[in-house]
Amino acid sequence: MNDISNNVSDIKRKIETAAKVSGRNYEDILFLGVTKTVDVERIKILMDCGVKSLGENRVQELISKYELIGNDAKWHLIGNLQTNKVKYIIDKVELIHSVDSLKLAAEIDKQAKKIDKTVDILVEVNIAGEASKHGIEPSKVLDLIENISYFDNICVKGLMTVAPFVENPEENRKYFNQMRKIFVDIKSQNVDNIDMAYLSMGMTNDYEIAIEEGANIVRIGTGIFGKRNYNL
Ligand SMILES: *Cc1c(COP(=O)(O)O)cnc(C)c1O
Repeated sequence: MNDISNNVSDIKRKIETAAKVSGRNYEDILFLGVTKTVDVERIKILMDCGVKSLGENRVQELISKYELIGNDAKWHLIGNLQTNKVKYIIDKVELIHSVDSLKLAAEIDKQAKKIDKTVDILVEVNIAGEASKHGIEPSKVLDLIENISYFDNICVKGLMTVAPFVENPEENRKYFNQMRKIFVDIKSQNVDNIDMAYLSMGMTNDYEIAIEEGANIVRIGTGIFGKRNYNL
């Protein structure tokens, strides 16, 4: 139990140090606790440490935890989302990180309209062009965002990426830097109805470098809870 709280303190310190490197403060960075495969008891310990924004990558798991924890936490969907499952989470999520097609955006808009809500989303970018990864290729991001901007019940809030798995996190610095450039470029276009506020990148292995390169949401699971006992 103490482990979780020690790990969280350690991560907060590292976030703060990395934020300073890029001229920011701890408060400028959202520390998202990734709770996939973690039971509710341990999630509550995390929440008691002050981490109340939680990331889940599967719809079913998000729903069953939502039933037990509800709105005491802010729920972020960070994994791949199938269009036929949008309706189950639309009323529960604070932010959907993984929108990479107009079709998915259209379904989110349709379901959001039904409950009279505007849903915040990030566009997921496949920055390293990995065949195994979701996300849209960098050259198509602006076009997708412009198309999404016509939907009344969606607001684009920024970009997300899952960087490659590497031994040395420095290898991902170039990808984080490229993400930041795309982010800044789109922000400068001032597209109507979008608000480029968040850059979600960096996980346990590389969040400090991601922050140094401009991330303001980091998604951390293993660093808090230890290694998960199955491969995702
Ligand atoms: C699991 C997961 C994370 C957290 O990864 P860790 O290495 O455990 O910190 C972050 N983002 C996404 C999309 C994930 O699926």
